Amino acid sequence: MDKTETASLGGNTKYIFVVGGVMSGVGKGVTSSSIAMLLQARGLKVTTIKIDPYINVDAGTMNPTEHGEVFVLKEGLETDQDMGNYERFLNQDLPAINYMTTGSVYLSVIEKERNLKYKGRNVEVVPDIPLEVISRIKKAGQVAEADVVMVEIGGTVGEYQNILFLEAVRMMKTERPADVATIMVSFLPLPHSIGEMKTKPTQTAVRMLNGAGVFADMIIARSSLAIDEKRKEKIATFCNVRREYVISAPDASSIYEVSLKFEADKITDKILTILNLPITGKSNLTKWKKFVANLKAENKPVVKIALVGKYFKSGEFVLSDVYLSVIEALKYSAYALGLQPEITYLSASEFADGTRPLAELGNFAGVLVPGGFGESGVEGKLEVIEYVRKNKIPYFGICYGMQLAVLEYAKNVLKLADVNTTEIKPDAQNPVVDVMLSQKEVIKKGQMGGTMRLGEYQTVLKSGTLAAQAYKSKMVAERHRHRYEVNNKYVADLEQAGLIFSGVSPDGLLMEIMELPATVHPFFVGVQFHPEFKARPLAPHPLFTAFVRTAYEN
Ligand code: GLN
Repeated sequence: MDKTETASLGGNTKYIFVVGGVMSGVGKGVTSSSIAMLLQARGLKVTTIKIDPYINVDAGTMNPTEHGEVFVLKEGLETDQDMGNYERFLNQDLPAINYMTTGSVYLSVIEKERNLKYKGRNVEVVPDIPLEVISRIKKAGQVAEADVVMVEIGGTVGEYQNILFLEAVRMMKTERPADVATIMVSFLPLPHSIGEMKTKPTQTAVRMLNGAGVFADMIIARSSLAIDEKRKEKIATFCNVRREYVISAPDASSIYEVSLKFEADKITDKILTILNLPITGKSNLTKWKKFVANLKAENKPVVKIALVGKYFKSGEFVLSDVYLSVIEALKYSAYALGLQPEITYLSASEFADGTRPLAELGNFAGVLVPGGFGESGVEGKLEVIEYVRKNKIPYFGICYGMQLAVLEYAKNVLKLADVNTTEIKPDAQNPVVDVMLSQKEVIKKGQMGGTMRLGEYQTVLKSGTLAAQAYKSKMVAERHRHRYEVNNKYVADLEQAGLIFSGVSPDGLLMEIMELPATVHPFFVGVQFHPEFKARPLAPHPLFTAFVRTAYEN
């Protein structure tokens, strides 16, 4: 092996790997985000990486009901929703280098091989795949000039797909034993019939981790209740972890409170010790504590918002995961306004098939239609939009929610026949929403992965509009994810009929925000972009705040 290929780690950067125990979905992302935030609150520069074990090169091609929300980074990469958690907890944009999947890692190794970057040698799964992983982790640390790089490995230790990532952890730990910490987040079941918290699954998970040559420095014991001393002792004994490094993580009423509980348990000091960093300074958590206090404050006036989407049903379960960022964005704005958000998930199709009367919308202070794709649910959404427009219920449409609001206006106010988006009906007589020019070739070739109009673009705001008032700015940058847009051929007619395009791209060609004048409707706003990706607990999004405020006051 060439010396430059060993991807040896430079500088003083420290690395924390977070792995899952026997099952996923127990809050590994929130645990990682909380720990990262606590380290940041100690004055360290922290960056966070998510590794997903699947072959998909990014999260963009996956069905949302299977995978949850696709979170779009500033640079346009379509990622896992955990990246959203990190950005929200750290109040910081993360670069694309901070997200990788098995597919993306293999893709770059193969591309490198095709470009003779391995100088003619035999390229092997081990060590070349783990080396690529290590070099990305290292690069992310450099880009962020980080003191600490936190890396969360998706899924659980036992998964075949994770072996190569664990191999990367092993190699890094061997090379820099004093600078690498491994934290396992493990679930402790509490079966009703036994009434005792069981540690065996955690013991088994730790053995699997050990089998990969990696040892846990800390175990976060996730359970419905706090772990008692006896169980802590057991885990310490059987899992080779010091007793004080078994951290209790009972269910919390809010994910934002987890960090405060960890801090009370001195988790930051313990991690600094494991990483051989000095325990200096005090955590600055003032703003975070204030946010949590607002969230928990009792007797706040309630603001009821309906979220009308299509990805809620998964078998017998109701999923809201797909709209995670939208939901959190609504909450941040409500808390900042001293309100208690009450968000109801309504399936759009139920309005179309008559299971749910439109009049039910009158129970809500505001209605939000989030992004979406394809035909299903569209009929119901259009009816909902018509109803809230006519009944002056505050409306916020995001991406598809804006496109559909424009279609509704063209159909019911302009009275155009056969109005549609070419996404649903390519030969519509009035394609008021049409495929973007740049997308035509892409779609024709079937190159659907990572090719939408993605990431941050500027929008110029028209002064005096709701949008400009909310943002208090002339120009804003927001993240995008779409292939279709308002068809410019109809813009003049729509404006003539009263619709305002209050935000457009700097070249004036792309309609980014539409609204009705405040004299006509209290709040009828649609945005082509996804403002939810930039809403943060400590920095609520101005458009969400304007929507929630108007909804409440109305
Ligand atoms: N399906 C629409 C488009 O591709 C809207 C996308 C979205 O809502 N994210 O343009």
